[in-house]
Amino acid sequence: MKRFYCTCGQEVMFEDSVCPACGQMLGFNPEGLEMLAVFADGEQALRFGNDGGWLPCALRDHPIACNWLVREDDEHEQCCSCRLTRTIPTQTVPINVQRWKILEAAKRRLVYSLLWLGLPIVDREQDPAMGLVFDFLEDQRTNPLVKKRVVFTGHKEGVITLHAVEADDVHRIQAREQMNERYRTVLGHMRHESGHYFWDRLIRHSDWHPRFRRLFGSEENYRQALDYYYTYGPPPNWVSRHISAYASAHPWEDWAETWAHYLHIMSTLETANAFGVLPQADVYSSDFQVLMQKWEQLTVLMNSLNRSMGMPDAYPFWLTPQVVVKLRFIHQVIAASTRR
Ligand SMILES: [Zn+2]
Ligand SMILES: [Zn+2]
Ligand SMILES: [Zn+2]
Repeated sequence: MKRFYCTCGQEVMFEDSVCPACGQMLGFNPEGLEMLAVFADGEQALRFGNDGGWLPCALRDHPIACNWLVREDDEHEQCCSCRLTRTIPTQTVPINVQRWKILEAAKRRLVYSLLWLGLPIVDREQDPAMGLVFDFLEDQRTNPLVKKRVVFTGHKEGVITLHAVEADDVHRIQAREQMNERYRTVLGHMRHESGHYFWDRLIRHSDWHPRFRRLFGSEENYRQALDYYYTYGPPPNWVSRHISAYASAHPWEDWAETWAHYLHIMSTLETANAFGVLPQADVYSSDFQVLMQKWEQLTVLMNSLNRSMGMPDAYPFWLTPQVVVKLRFIHQVIAASTRR
């Protein structure tokens, strides 16, 4: 993530819609990936930017409190992130308002990083059959009044389904412990599922496919492989070949887990670079080898900082050579498919 500043000079956060120092209204421009100040010209309508060419997302003055902007000549009322959501959990249940808000906040971070990397986000309007769309659903485990008995977080043909209860800290930490995971966050789920979406877009019918199979394995028998994983767990040697235990379940899950991990790395390196923690690391166009060296230094720093605060490690992972080879492959696929 870049650093953002108000016109008064105050540093502001990506999520801010008001400057904490001068009280000026702010909005995020998803095209320029920059924060814009409110445009004052005496008009009634709220406008942003030097020429007032940007309007607030329809979910700004709303419990979701989205701070993103929409071009004034855009026919959409919601920003490019909010309108990727198709289904939300019943809003008459107050906790669902909070859940939706948390999910949207994480989604904006996902969309930011995809835009920053220059990855194509094709929505349902542009591609009704395979475009990207999010369903945030509840099931009877959390709300006996809904029809669905069990909702599984996952991806199919552009549709990313997220069990809305993943927004609750207590549920998520319990699930993390039950499944013996080292890391479980809403943003992590979003990044993982986006990996499945981009596998369809960038690998499935591409020249990368044979190399994908050599690195990750052949992707037959998906259902059986997942059933086997949930019954017997990961193979004992999973650590040497996979970034997570779940990644050992099937090549598609391995890809999605490694993809999510790549986004974690690039995003965190961008933030560190913006703060001058790793000078000279031009994250966006850097050589993969350089990025990995910087990343190793940074993770030691991150974990040391967390331990100083009495917190668990920020980065509870270890990158083995076999995992690094997969990360490099993803780096190459993304570089080839974007403006880089
Ligand atoms: Zn200010
Ligand atoms: Zn929005
Ligand atoms: Zn998956």
